[in-house]
Amino acid sequence: MKLRCSSLPRIAACPASAEAPLVSVVDEWNEAGAVGTAVHEGLAHWIKTQKFPPLDALCEKHGVKPAEVGWLIRNGRHVWGVYEPLVDLVGVEHHLTGALGEHELSGHLDELGRRKDKPRTAVVIDWKTNRVERDYSRQILGYGSLVFQNAAQINEVIGVIVWLREAEKDGSVPTETLTMTRDNVSLWTEKFLDHLESGEYTNNPETCAFCPKRHACATRSILMRNAVACVSKLDPKAVLTRDDLARIYPQAQAAKRALNEFDKMLKAQVAEAPVSLGNGQELYIQETKTDIIAPRDAATIYGADQVLESCTLSKTKFLDAQTEGAPKRGRKLAKTEIIDTLRNAGAIETRVDKKLAKRKEKT
Ligand code: SF4
Repeated sequence: MKLRCSSLPRIAACPASAEAPLVSVVDEWNEAGAVGTAVHEGLAHWIKTQKFPPLDALCEKHGVKPAEVGWLIRNGRHVWGVYEPLVDLVGVEHHLTGALGEHELSGHLDELGRRKDKPRTAVVIDWKTNRVERDYSRQILGYGSLVFQNAAQINEVIGVIVWLREAEKDGSVPTETLTMTRDNVSLWTEKFLDHLESGEYTNNPETCAFCPKRHACATRSILMRNAVACVSKLDPKAVLTRDDLARIYPQAQAAKRALNEFDKMLKAQVAEAPVSLGNGQELYIQETKTDIIAPRDAATIYGADQVLESCTLSKTKFLDAQTEGAPKRGRKLAKTEIIDTLRNAGAIETRVDKKLAKRKEKT
């Protein structure tokens, strides 16, 4: 099979999607995809020439808005400014080919460089312009594998995913880094190939949104039909007794799960571009931001006492932090002891939540 690094995250979620589709459909133009292409092209221009790309011409070519594309390119330029002094650039939009087991593997690396202070370490930068965060680690591992196969002298690859759309007000841009050695890439390859061999289908319709087989995939139709059927089966006009209500509880739970899946599936579609509802309205992804105050930083300004007054601790995080480094076996006991100490000191308040649950009937 011919595999592209950019398809590996989808194939990891649904191995069956690796096979070429029986029916090939040319994807419709979508705004998110066009913005991504324009930004990649613009950043490649900047890195090669040190000049900002001709924004209007670039956006006209791809049918997208200059303000958004310009902002994303500037975010990338900011990140490249950090890496540029540290790496010797090897290639921009660099195409590499190799193998993944018996399959052909290829990838288009946005930027490939070598660390100036450690020339046996390669650096791969991957720009992401999408709104929806997905797990791209397999794509980066694919790039790592290609670099190792093409450069015998390299013994470490650092993959950097840059979330251009998540830039903060102060201009900082979040990045995610994956450090790869030849050993961990071959371990991953083995696992990935086993998973690929399974040929399993996903049970997550979100994955299908980007699958070339989606137009003629029976499993996807079943997933969608189930989700829709579960939702539409509910009859809001029915008069139901207490017993009726209890008996449809399992269906209600299934419907909740189906609604969840339906929501994810729809969100994945709408994330690509707004979708018209046909009544003059459209569905789009609205971003809401929540500010989280870092207690340690706030305490330096307002004092620890004032900050502690309005803080609650996450029990899991606190216990994990306190027992970090403790031997695995003794960790559970150590956590129980901490809870006991806190409870005895009156530092624990217990909240009672009530929820529906199933158990064996009492006879
Ligand atoms: S359409 Fe969905 S279920 Fe079908 S192969 Fe693609 S990802 Fe898998």
